Amino acid sequence: MRPEQLLSPTLAGLYCEAGGFHIDPTRPVDRAVITHGHSDHARPGHGRVLATQETLDLMQLRYGSGFAGSAQAARYGETLNLGGVALTFHPAGHVLGSAQVAVAREGLRIVASGDYKDAADPTCTPFEPVACDVFITEATFGLPVFRHGSPDGEIAKLLRSVALFGERAHLLGAYSLGKAQRVIALIRKAGYAQPIYLHGALLGITRYYQSRGIALGDLRLAREADKAELAGAIVLCPPSALNELWSRRFPDPVTAFASGWMRVRARARQRGIALPLVVSDHADWDGLTATIAATGAGEIWVTHGQEDGLVRFCELTGRKARPLALVGYGDEEESADTTGEPP
Ligand SMILES: [Zn+2]
Ligand SMILES: [Zn+2]
Repeated sequence: MRPEQLLSPTLAGLYCEAGGFHIDPTRPVDRAVITHGHSDHARPGHGRVLATQETLDLMQLRYGSGFAGSAQAARYGETLNLGGVALTFHPAGHVLGSAQVAVAREGLRIVASGDYKDAADPTCTPFEPVACDVFITEATFGLPVFRHGSPDGEIAKLLRSVALFGERAHLLGAYSLGKAQRVIALIRKAGYAQPIYLHGALLGITRYYQSRGIALGDLRLAREADKAELAGAIVLCPPSALNELWSRRFPDPVTAFASGWMRVRARARQRGIALPLVVSDHADWDGLTATIAATGAGEIWVTHGQEDGLVRFCELTGRKARPLALVGYGDEEESADTTGEPP
C-alpha cells in the first residue's frame, strides 16, 4: 500500500478513507481525530470527535458542550480500530493533552504529529518519538535561524527586570492555551512565590490546568487588584491585550511577550515589546531535525510553516520529502486569541 492510500491531503485536512476519519479537519466532517486544543486544529461542528480527555475538555471549555455531535476519549498508548485501521495516540509535548496520532495498516505506519516540541515542559506529558515509515511534521520554526535556547534563561531575564523595576507592572503577553500556563510554571520553578495576576481571558484554561494537578501557585485576577498591588507585579494577558485600552490601567508597565517569534528582533520592535522572551511550544530547528531522525522514517511530509527549509534538509539527508500544502493551519501563536471572556 502506498502511504497516500492510507492518508491523503484533502481540502478538509488529512483524510483516512479506510478508517473514515479526518485528522484536525478545517471544516465540519463526520468523524474527526483531533491532535490538540489549539483553534486551528480543534474546531467545533464535527459529527464525532476522537481526542484525549484533556483536548475534549479544552474544546468544551472554548466552544461549549455542543462542540461536537459526540465525543470519545483516547488515552496515550491506547490503540483503537477504525475500519481495519489501527489508531494510537502518543504524547506530543506541545500543550496539555496534545497527541501525535499513529495510523497503521498492513505493516505501514504514518505518524501525524500535529504540533509538537521535544523541550521540557512541566505542564504536559513529554514528547515521545514514534518509529514510523512516514512522519508528518509541522514546520513552524523550520529554518536553522530558529534556535529557542533555554526557557529558564528567558524567565531569568523577566525576573531580573522585575527586581530592577520594583514600581512597574510587568505585562507579559502569552497565548491562553499552553503558553500562559507553561510560563507561570517556569516562573514558579525559578523560585518566584508572589501572586501572579491574570487577564480574565486566561482564567478558564489556567484553572483547568490546575484542576488537572498542575501546580501554578497563587493566581489572582488583575481586574480585582488595586493599583498599588500591581506595582512590581507580573501580569499575564493574551498578546492582543498588550496594545489595548486594558493595558493602560497599569502603573508604568514594562511589556514582555513570550513566543518563539521573539527570536526575530523586528517582530518584537514592531509590536513595541520592551522585553522579548524566546519561549516556544513548537520544536526549533534542532528539535525538528532531531525528531525526524529519531522516528527513523524514510519519508517526511511537511506542513504548516517553513516547509521549504525542512523539505530541503530531508532531501540532503537522503529522505523522501514533500510539502503537504494543507490550508487552514496558521500558527496559533500569530492568530487572534479571543475567548470572549471579560478582561
Ligand atoms: Zn498548536
Ligand atoms: Zn498548528
